Formats: sequence, structure tokens, C-alpha cells
Amino acid sequence: MSSNAACIFCKIIKGEIPSFKLFESERVLAFMDIQPLARGHALVIPKTHAAKLLDVPDNELEECMPVAKRIAKAIGANDYNILQNNGRLAHQEVDHVHFHVIPKPDAKQGLQIGWPQQ
Ligand code: C5P
Repeated sequence: MSSNAACIFCKIIKGEIPSFKLFESERVLAFMDIQPLARGHALVIPKTHAAKLLDVPDNELEECMPVAKRIAKAIGANDYNILQNNGRLAHQEVDHVHFHVIPKPDAKQGLQIGWPQQ
């Protein structure tokens, strides 16, 4: 399992940067996004370091979707997005593969999901 000393998510995995952890296993970590696009916005990451989806060995990815499902269920939103960005033009900012779990807020929460304009 590879790690990158300069990668912010590898630092989170190692506990060098604090995070609000939701789930952790040998291969996967899920934690709350520090700048949520909606209340309950979480991230699911493979622990092995890889910048883009095609760089991650399949066996390191196997647990990510089941964990994203569990997070979505735990958040309790009826409607939600699961997103995974690759490359700057696709809004990727952190070069460690991650799956966003973003609840679609109900009207009472008054929040809207939207990627920042470039
Ligand atoms: O897909 P993208 O690379 O744009 O998303 C990166 C996400 O990582 C952002 O939603 C950002 O808020 C989150 N992040 C975080 N904790 C950090 C650094 C970034 O939750 N320490």
C-alpha cells in the first residue's frame, strides 16, 4: 500500500492531520469533508496513495463503494450524490482518490450543492 509524505489525505490516514473519522478499515477511511458542500458531506478514500481512479489497483477500491453506501445510509438523506473527480478540469483539488458522499439537503436546511465557479 503506497503512501505519499506530501499528500494531505495520506497525512490524515496517518493521523498527522486531524479529521472527523466515520469509518476505518485496513484499506479504507471515511471522514467528514472539512469544507462541506452540504451538511453531512463525507469523503471515502482508499488508503493507498494514487492521484486518479485509473491509478488505483482494483483490490484497493473494492471496499470504497460499500463504505460509501454505509455512509449514505448513516447520513440518512433520501437523495444524495456520490462523486469522484479526476484532474483539475474535473474539479479535483486533492490528488489522492476520494469519493464524495454529498446529501441533497431538504428545503429546511436551506443549503444547495454546487461546485465553486472557476
Ligand atoms: O474532489 P476534490 O479534490 O475537489 O475534493 C477535495 C475535497 O477535500 C474538498 O471537498 C475539500 O473540502 C476536502 N478536504 C478535506 N480536508 C482537508 C483538505 C481537503 O476534507 N484537509
